[in-house]
Order: sequence, then structure tokens, then C-alpha cells
Amino acid sequence: NSSAEHPPHVALVAFPFGTHAGPLLALARALAAAAPATTFSFLSTARSLASLRGGGAVLAGNLRFVPLSDGIPEGSSAAGIEEQIGMFLSAAPAIVRKGIEAASAEAGGAAVSCVVSDAFLWMAGKAAEEMGVPWVPLWTGGSGGLLAHLHTDLLRRMIGVGEEANPGRADEILDFIPGLSAHRVRDLPEGIIFGPLNSSISLLLHLMAQQIPRAAAAVVLNNFHGLDPSVDAGLAAALPNPLPLGPIHLLAPPLAEPDPHLCLPWLDRHGPATVVYVGFGTVTTPPPAEIAWLAEGLKASGAPFIWSLKEAARELLPPGFLLRTRERGLVVNWAPQRGILGHVAAGAFVTHCGWNSVLEGITAGVPMVCRPFFGDQTLNARAVSHVWGIGEVFEGGVVTKEGTVRALEVVLRGEEGKRMRERAAELKAMAVQAVRPGGSSSENFNKLLKIIHRN
Ligand code: UDP
Repeated sequence: NSSAEHPPHVALVAFPFGTHAGPLLALARALAAAAPATTFSFLSTARSLASLRGGGAVLAGNLRFVPLSDGIPEGSSAAGIEEQIGMFLSAAPAIVRKGIEAASAEAGGAAVSCVVSDAFLWMAGKAAEEMGVPWVPLWTGGSGGLLAHLHTDLLRRMIGVGEEANPGRADEILDFIPGLSAHRVRDLPEGIIFGPLNSSISLLLHLMAQQIPRAAAAVVLNNFHGLDPSVDAGLAAALPNPLPLGPIHLLAPPLAEPDPHLCLPWLDRHGPATVVYVGFGTVTTPPPAEIAWLAEGLKASGAPFIWSLKEAARELLPPGFLLRTRERGLVVNWAPQRGILGHVAAGAFVTHCGWNSVLEGITAGVPMVCRPFFGDQTLNARAVSHVWGIGEVFEGGVVTKEGTVRALEVVLRGEEGKRMRERAAELKAMAVQAVRPGGSSSENFNKLLKIIHRN
């Protein structure tokens, strides 16, 4: 046991864009609470750290924030998010290395003894390798997405690259990849066989897929055993030491969610399983036509609803919509999503199927109506509809007025909706069981503690 000579110091390195840093911070908080004698340094860009602080993160004494450079050269600026990601990634190997040095300096010279990083940051694995310490990546998305990326080379060989290489194959089932046999070619994230193969994110994910099986001491997944046994088997075959230890938002002590628009008291006035919650995450705003159709569909369905819609997108709502629905609808620019889904009045969740949203829907036992956009969202949506049977995907993949009315009728009022709710309740019970003492996620969390303490 080397920890007696060198007090353990764990550096957790976030991918500082989108919602990636949130689950890593939740993991860091759970680790810091479980190992009070260990130092934890949480590394992300100043902008990302500020937004986590703004989210109310209160840190334990053994967990500190360490800023990472954003990679934007002095005197220049990066306008769009893609440019920001590109600049960060092109300097990422040096940024991560310097960040780890800074973490050590700020901890009074205590050398970093383990690197936990967002799985995207394969270069954190390289840095750990050079330092001779274990690297544990966290995959924050759906496990199906990770399986797809891990099998990038196989998929390219079997299907070919580009739309022309695989005409007519979009509906083929991916039964040659353990864990993906319920999914089709068309459900794959872009950047594997179609879409931009050479974008900075696609190249990053390809390198990640090569680095993880070679260099990771374990791979943490925001998932739990039994949610999809075929995915469990696929991960066990493809990864060294997979550790599904989620849902991480149940594992870590929860932060209070602000409710500035009083959504929760509003829900108190509604019957069980009657309200539709609409939310497309933090990145995506659906195309204008789909926002208008969704509004028309909500109006026609007659169901009460809460819609988390960015302020800038409000002008896309049909004229008079807010006025005509104000008795039974709330449109807010930020909603306490977990609290809403966990409220007894929540009856349906219209979602883009970002993995955090899917897990939050599952742990609340609320059936989903899915409109996926990019990344792992399409695979997640397919699992919701075809593996777990706890929701539907919009017909034709896009929101229409009729599609909205029909899907809400099925989920809120139909027999199939009742069965979806029952199946969702079973998954919810499994998730809660997994994070209890002795449950599979809490056992995997203990395994992670052992790895970071090298005992
Ligand atoms: N979220 C929220 N209120 C909102 C919008 C989003 O609390 O009004 C939270 C949601 O609960 C989830 C996260 O933001 O935890 C979105 O993550 P997800 O992976 O679903 O989607 P992304 O934003 O990464 O596309």
C-alpha cells in the first residue's frame, strides 16, 4: 500500500463544455465525502468552474477547484462554441499537463497519484501514463454511444464510410456489436461512419476509443448494472474494468435546484401523472418549425405542461400561444428538471434524450417522447423505445402537431402508456437499489475508491 508514504491526491479533469463537467463534479463530491483524508483537485476552465459555482456547488474541504487554460491565445477571441472547443482541444495535451502541475503546486506540492478525467480527454490518459499513475476515464453519455465509438474501426470496415458507401443500409441492425443489437446503422452518432469524420470532436473520439482499452485502469459509467444486460456484456467485452456506478445524481449528495418560476408549487395543483414536461437540454434548440408544431400539438392535446425553452426561442412560438395556454401551461427559460420529473404530477417527458435527461426520466419513472438530435441521443432514444419500452420516438424523427397529439395521447392516457409507466417504475426501483449500500453501483464506487487509493 503506497498511500502510507504518499498521501493520495486525485486530479479530476473535466471536459469544460456542455453538461460534461456536472457528472464529474458530482462524482468528485461523492469521492471527497467518502475519502475525507484524500485530496481531490477538480480541473476545468474558469468559465466552466464559474458555471458550476453558479449552480450552487459547495465544496468539501478536501475538494478544490483548479482552473485550466481555455486554450484561447492571448489577444484573440473564440466566438462560437465549436471554435472554443477546437481551440481548447488543439492545446489540450499541454493544458492538461500544466493543470495537473498546478493542482500539485496548489496542494502544497502533493504529487497527483491518480487521474480521473472525462473520457473525451484521452490526453489525460497519456499524462497519467507518463507520470506512472492510474487513469480512470468517466464516460458521461449513454453506454451505447461509448460502445459505438469503441467499435469505430469495425463499423467502418463492416459498413463503409460516408452515405454513398452504405446506400440502403440505414435500417440494418448492428447485431455484430455486442450491446448494440437493438440499434440500427442510422442510430449511430455522427463522426463514426457518416457526418464529419475529421472534425476535432470526431478525431478526439476516435483517439479516445484507441486510448481507453489500452491505458485505462477502469472506466466509470453513469449507468447501472441490469439497465441493459446486453450493454453490460458488450462493455465487459470491450473495456478494461467497466465500473457502472450511477445514476451519479443519486450517488452524490444532491444540490438544491433553484425554482425561480415556481414550477414545483404549480405542479402541486395538478393530478398524478397528468403534466407534460418539455425540455431539450442545455445545448439544443429545435428548428423553428418544430417549436411551432410542438406548441400547436401541446395546445391541441389539452394536457397541462411545463416547457423549458430558452428566452431567445420564445419568439418562435405561434402568436398568442402563451396567452391562450396560460391557464394550463408554464413556459420558463430554466426549470428544476429533476424536481419536476420526480413530482407525482409528471406524466410525460418530451426530451432530446441527452443522457442526463434519460437517466433523470428513468429514475423518476416517467415515460418519454423522444426527439433526438446528435451524438448518443439517437441511440438513447432507440433504447427508450425498443429496449426498455418506456417511451416513443416521434414518428419520422421530427416533431409535428399530429405526432405530438398522438404521442401524448398514448403516453398520458393509453393502455400502452400505463405499461410504459409500469416498466419505468421497475427501472426506477433498480436504479435506487443499485446505489444503496451493497447495490451494484455502490460496490463499483467502492472499487473506484480502492483504485484511487491503490489498495
Ligand atoms: N436541465 C435543467 N433545467 C433545464 C434544462 C436542463 O435542470 O431547464 C438539466 C437537466 O436536468 C440535465 C441537464 O440539464 O441534468 C441536461 O443534460 P443532458 O445530458 O440531458 O443534455 P445536454 O444539455 O448535455 O444536451
